[in-house]
Amino acid sequence: MRVIAIDGPAGAGKSTVARRVAAATGLPFLDTGAMYRCVALSVLRHSVDPNDHDATAAVARRLEVRVDGEKVEMDGEDVSSAIREPGVNSVVSVIAAHGGVRDVMRGAQREWATRAGGGVVEGRDIGTVVFPDADVKIFLTASPMRRAARRVEQSGGDIHEVARSIEDRDRIDSTRQDSPLRPAEGSITVDSSDMTVDQVVEAIVRHYRDKCGEDR
Ligand code: C5P
Repeated sequence: MRVIAIDGPAGAGKSTVARRVAAATGLPFLDTGAMYRCVALSVLRHSVDPNDHDATAAVARRLEVRVDGEKVEMDGEDVSSAIREPGVNSVVSVIAAHGGVRDVMRGAQREWATRAGGGVVEGRDIGTVVFPDADVKIFLTASPMRRAARRVEQSGGDIHEVARSIEDRDRIDSTRQDSPLRPAEGSITVDSSDMTVDQVVEAIVRHYRDKCGEDR
């Protein structure tokens, strides 16, 4: 099973890059952040306390999430746009810090990869915990200002508010007990601050081909 793991902080361009790497290598692509976002959306809709470990884990267990490329379905409903709303941004990291929620997500991610026969998987703990034996592990980052500016270009909003929201999430994601965001052992750090998407994709694909002997 071939796995390319791409981890990194919010706004580093993981989804765009992972999608392009998937197209170049012929591997399927999984955005694991979308899965945590579904749990957050459901928690908000059912007025569950985001700080309640057991209640949020129960939501995660109950939920049927399907991520197919960019299309995300939750219990049969297309929530591809709803999971990107600011309300979800503000609670997702709190919910994702709960071990019970992460257990459910990790299980689903491993099942997905087994069924798909591998893939390009992006998130926060893919190279460290979910697929520690991935063929290629990338830690994709960029300066906080570049990351905030990219998010504003993509989805609008006030740059200072976006920067604050990214900072808050990064702080929670990197200081939690269970699978904090950090570069995995054996990973390559790519700082995309001054790189184009093409350059980042090319660097990752080259590394994958060197490592896995693909001759395309
Ligand atoms: O990647 P994205 O920004 O959509 O992720 C949303 C949130 O989901 C992250 O800020 C993080 O709290 C959580 N997440 C995680 N582990 C992953 C992917 C996402 O904790 N593998």
